[in-house]
Amino acid sequence: MQASYIRESERLTALDRYDILDTPPEEAFDRITRLTRSVFDVSMATISLLDGHRQWFKSRQGFHSCETSRGMALCDYTIRESVPLVIPDTLADERYREHPSVTGDPHVRFYAGAQLRVTGGHNIGTLCAFDTRPRGFSTEEAAILQDLARIVLSELELRTLLMQDSLTGALSRRALRDETTRAITLATRHGHHLSLIMFDLDHFKAINDNNGHHVGDRVLAACVRAVQGMLRKADCVGRIGGEEFAVLLPHTDFADAMQVAEKIRAAIAGVVVPGARGPIAVSASLGVAAVDRTAHDTDELIRRADVAMYEAKQAGRNRCMAWHAPNIAPDRLRRVFKAGHISFHGGASTINCTVRGLSAVGASIDVISTGDIPEHFRLIIPVDHIARNCRILGKRERHIDIAFE
Ligand code: GH3
Ligand code: MG
Ligand code: MG
Repeated sequence: MQASYIRESERLTALDRYDILDTPPEEAFDRITRLTRSVFDVSMATISLLDGHRQWFKSRQGFHSCETSRGMALCDYTIRESVPLVIPDTLADERYREHPSVTGDPHVRFYAGAQLRVTGGHNIGTLCAFDTRPRGFSTEEAAILQDLARIVLSELELRTLLMQDSLTGALSRRALRDETTRAITLATRHGHHLSLIMFDLDHFKAINDNNGHHVGDRVLAACVRAVQGMLRKADCVGRIGGEEFAVLLPHTDFADAMQVAEKIRAAIAGVVVPGARGPIAVSASLGVAAVDRTAHDTDELIRRADVAMYEAKQAGRNRCMAWHAPNIAPDRLRRVFKAGHISFHGGASTINCTVRGLSAVGASIDVISTGDIPEHFRLIIPVDHIARNCRILGKRERHIDIAFE
């Protein structure tokens, strides 16, 4: 008995790794259940995941509830087997005749289920075809169902790869953005606080240069572990790119987020990874922003935290900065659409840009990448005969706010 409890708890851990329960329908899975229903000419097909207390459907055709109790699930028998479970006529089989899904809704007479078996041998759920009429099911058909179940599993694996950064285990950029959007909707609907921290490791290029890329990778993973170790369950860390991360903090106001940021800063400063020339220390610069009346979409929240993080870099790194409204109010910028050039290294380097906003004291410009652009440069707008020395006030992915000097 004890062994089966342990096995079941390992199975649930395996299921948890896919982070799939209660997620919205996805076409990739619906396509498979549609195919299952038409290939076998049955009225119902589902992808069922067996949670501790319920079966939850990632996809369902011809079947209304999005979940049922586990006791209602014929799939609960399937996951205990290693080959597809086929019941040509439930009423003719005394093991299933009295089952609640046979005697009651959806009155299953025919059932065929193939296991979703993950590495480690656990069956996290099933792909199943069922009907209110009895029918035969050949060995070939069972093999097809099993192949379709393997496709479901590949989709699940693929989805996990897309959602998670394989090096650090942090959420992928896309997943973090989706999560932020979801959290902002909930926070605005229910009037909860929500904050976001962006952080970027300091002088990380030097760590790579001095120790090799693979050691750099270890430092990245160790930093994420240190951060995850001090967050609450509802918080999440995402890798935005390279050595830049975001931490989403539901139910957290600006002041509390500043305290969390400081704890993250300290945790990263405490990370030590052995290197070729002795222990490697690392630090991070952090920027904090919170949802408020003027920032209630994902892009704006990320942009603000990014601007604050950039200020933390400017102020000397290994520190946390809060977002504050910039000196040039965006509404004082005239919206324009002009081609421009960014010139630096005494005119030796030029990058094209688009000027989106312009005022007497600054501008707002779009570029392909902010990577190579120094703090100070010259902005040239040929159409207006403007050539001004500028200082960067803030940047995000492909956008720079500047002040004229
Ligand atoms: P700053 O304090 O201004 O952020 O300096 P930095 O050196 O951290 O910034 P920079 O953007 O110049 O360099 C970032 C480096 O991060 C360069 C890039 O090779 C490295 N990097 C990005 N992704 C990875 C990765 O997955 N593994 C390793 N080892 N290094 C990475
Ligand atoms: Mg960096
Ligand atoms: Mg960076």
